[in-house]
Amino acid sequence: MAEKHNRRHCSFCGRGEDKVEMLITGVDGNICNICAEQAYEIWREERNKQTSDFTMSELPKPKDIKAFLDEYVIGQDEAKCALAVSVYNHYKRLLQNENADEVEIEKSNIIMVGSTGTGKTLLARTIARLLKVPFTIVDATVLTEAGYVGEDIESILTRLLQVADYKVQEAERGIVFIDEIDKIARKGDNPSITRDVSGEGVQQGLLKLLEGAVINVPPQGGRKHPEQKMIPVNTKNILFICGGAFDGIEKKIAQRLNTHVVGFDSVQNKLNIDPKDIMKYVTPQDLRSFGLIPEIVGRLPILTSLRPLDRNALRNILTEPKNSIIKQYVKLMEMDGVKLTFNEDVLDFIVDKAIEFKLGARGLRSIVETIMMDKMFEVPSSGEQECVVDIEFAKKQLEKGLPTDADVA
Ligand code: ADP
Repeated sequence: MAEKHNRRHCSFCGRGEDKVEMLITGVDGNICNICAEQAYEIWREERNKQTSDFTMSELPKPKDIKAFLDEYVIGQDEAKCALAVSVYNHYKRLLQNENADEVEIEKSNIIMVGSTGTGKTLLARTIARLLKVPFTIVDATVLTEAGYVGEDIESILTRLLQVADYKVQEAERGIVFIDEIDKIARKGDNPSITRDVSGEGVQQGLLKLLEGAVINVPPQGGRKHPEQKMIPVNTKNILFICGGAFDGIEKKIAQRLNTHVVGFDSVQNKLNIDPKDIMKYVTPQDLRSFGLIPEIVGRLPILTSLRPLDRNALRNILTEPKNSIIKQYVKLMEMDGVKLTFNEDVLDFIVDKAIEFKLGARGLRSIVETIMMDKMFEVPSSGEQECVVDIEFAKKQLEKGLPTDADVA
């Protein structure tokens, strides 16, 4: 009898310790695993509410956003400023929506144009770290029209819903980065005999999202779960950031510039154009000639371009960003108690090779990895406390295992 009296109980639900899996004892009471889980859920919901409600004074200003991007991304100032302003204005719209009778601020979706490996996705990933709203990155190459193999346009919103823990209101304030938007451009001007699977139809679908519409979203995505109940999501307040390499658009830009004056040389003279940096003259008209439908172009009012990365930029990418490749390797070795250093000429050599292999920034990592593989294997068990990578070693390692295109992809 006495034993029964002594049995401990949860101070929240009163269950005895024999009725629960675990009872945690505190100073003045106990909590069972069931109540602890419930308490955690309540706390999580409260926390989510807090992070999504912000006031004007709490918002990072465009200059703060840019400064944050500068810590991780080298150069690309124009794109950074455009992103910073656009995200800031997006927040302002969200704050303003509550007072309906004010001037309505329209959203300014962005499109970033720049060769592959210049930092478009990196910019998007980095900005996501400081966002106060749900954010997701989707790849336009997987999108197809309904009925074809691949994902429907609605799947873009499925991802956003998932990030927002299926809170529709939260998702409706989110930001979506659509990568490789150029891959859904209409291919050529000839009307195709078959339907254009990854072309205009997909663009029309995407247009609906960009314009703002109520879209029925499959919560699990895909067509694998035909029985799933659709969730209506209004895209009116969702900000879309698009990015694409638009391979070959330089030609279209040059052609357009050429129409003003005969001969490319004379254009160069007149406008002082650097042929290597022709991307910075990109206009909405060029996106249309590339194959984006005018309605899509019109819904992406902020057009910004990323510059090709020169030798200097590549050299900085190796060492300057907060989580640069070299810093990552130093950290990895530090965890084994080893001080890793790279001689300066090794860093120049890595940049030279990235340029020689035409791999750009993407190639830097695979080259460093090729050079470091043997050391990463041996040093942790060698008892060494210091490891210096010199030029002879770097050259030898790289000759042994030159990176292939597959390593870089
Ligand atoms: P994109 O999306 O333009 O094709 P990514 O952003 O995926 O290119 O860049 C590929 C990799 O190259 C990144 O993960 C990063 O390591 C490096 N990189 C590219 N551009 C930059 C940059 N401007 N600053 C720092 N790192 C960069």
